[in-house]
Amino acid sequence: MSDTKHADPRLARISSSIRAIPDFPKKGIMFRDVTTLLLDHQAFKDSIDIFVERYQGWKIDVVAGIEARGFIFGPPIALGIGAKFVPMRKPKKLPGPVISQEYTLEYGTDRIEMHVGAVEKGERVLIIDDLIATGGTLGAAIKLVEQVGGEIVECACVIELSDLKGRDKLGDKPLYALVDYEGDTILYSM
Ligand code: AMP
Repeated sequence: MSDTKHADPRLARISSSIRAIPDFPKKGIMFRDVTTLLLDHQAFKDSIDIFVERYQGWKIDVVAGIEARGFIFGPPIALGIGAKFVPMRKPKKLPGPVISQEYTLEYGTDRIEMHVGAVEKGERVLIIDDLIATGGTLGAAIKLVEQVGGEIVECACVIELSDLKGRDKLGDKPLYALVDYEGDTILYSM
């Protein structure tokens, strides 16, 4: 992350198009709502363009998007860089044989699933979600890809909440985020 001086000028518009909703879905949570980014054609296009500019030429085979908002950003990035798109879904949504990975939530556990054969051994994978908070979801996505021998090139999100130290759950896998809300301060990536 860098200060605003050196940041890509497109990031200010992206950041200001994301709505903050206090106490959703429960008290104490500041929900960062990307649906308002989708209403701003320029901001949505800029966010996809920044990812595509970054990952073009990285020889990525697979963009894996996490349900649900990874399904918004993942497919246009996959099309832009010439990779396939693989959905990582909540339990019992995928019709074919799946592999699954459990992860811990604040209360209880959850699971994400991927079709057997969607990612093949040795393929280079970029994992996409809208936001990283505690890192539990992305951490599970990494394990899912590793179960089948995929090579994780990077994880990417539109938003990082760095106060929650989600990066620590990703081991040695790099994370790229466009906007970081650290408390009330907005930091931009390069
Ligand atoms: P985590 O596993 O804690 O990193 O949470 C990340 C997942 O939960 C992402 O799929 C986000 O869409 C969602 N999420 C967590 N916290 C927030 C938040 N404050 N605003 C919007 N979405 C969130």
